[in-house]
Formats: sequence, C-alpha cells, structure tokens
Amino acid sequence: MWIKKSSDDLAIGLLARRAARAAWVFCFAYLLFVAAMPCGVFNIMPSARVVAALLAAAVLWGWYCQEQDRQARAKIMVCEQCGTKFTQPVNSCACGGNPVALSQMKWIADPPPPATPSPAIQPVASEEPASAPTAQNPLRV
Ligand SMILES: [Zn+2]
Repeated sequence: MWIKKSSDDLAIGLLARRAARAAWVFCFAYLLFVAAMPCGVFNIMPSARVVAALLAAAVLWGWYCQEQDRQARAKIMVCEQCGTKFTQPVNSCACGGNPVALSQMKWIADPPPPATPSPAIQPVASEEPASAPTAQNPLRV
C-alpha cells in the first residue's frame, strides 16, 4: 500500500539525488578535463584522450536519460486515500482523496494482520462479580 513519506525519508531522498548529481558532474568534468588537458602538462596518449571524450559523452548521455526518467516520474501522482495512480497531474481523485506526487509517497507491503492475544495473557473470567462484597471478605469492593 502507498503511504506518505516521512520528513526523514524526504530528506534522505533529497540527499541521495544531490549526491548522484554531484557524482555525474564530477565524472563528466574529470573526463572532460582528461580529454582536453593541454599537451605538455601530462603526457597522455591521444587514444586515451579519445577514450576520455567518449566516456564523458557516455556520462552526459546517462545523466540525460536519468533526468528524462525523473521528469516522467514527477508527473505520476498517487491518491493518498485509495492508492490510485494517475499518469498525468490531477487535482482530485474520484474517491475524494488528495493525489500527491509519487516522489512524496512510498510503497510498503501490506501490514500484517493484528496479532491475536495468546491464551496465556487473556484475562481469566471470574465466577463471581468483582464488585460484589462477600461474607468471607467484607472489605472487597
Ligand atoms: Zn482516491
């Protein structure tokens, strides 16, 4: 079932996205630097420069594909109440619930059924009412 993410989950997701973006930028910048490094500073074979340029292009393509996927997922909405998915942004659900962005929801397995109390901890039914005073114990209330 879909549940709304907690503020901790949202913060962790934001941190992970920022770390992934920084990794993409670092890889691209490093490979571009290796490919375009001026001759004479370091001796790098021309074939290594070509490989670095191709890898930089691959990193840029990977980042582009990831961003396209993220933007496509950003349009998906999920109703908070019934869990219906919408592929386009909507304002309300037929059930009356409030659709929110998929990025603010998370999927969890259905919660387990409530545990039945074990017979050992069930209260023992007394034969006489607890509030009735008896002749043997007049103080019993
Ligand atoms: Zn709904």
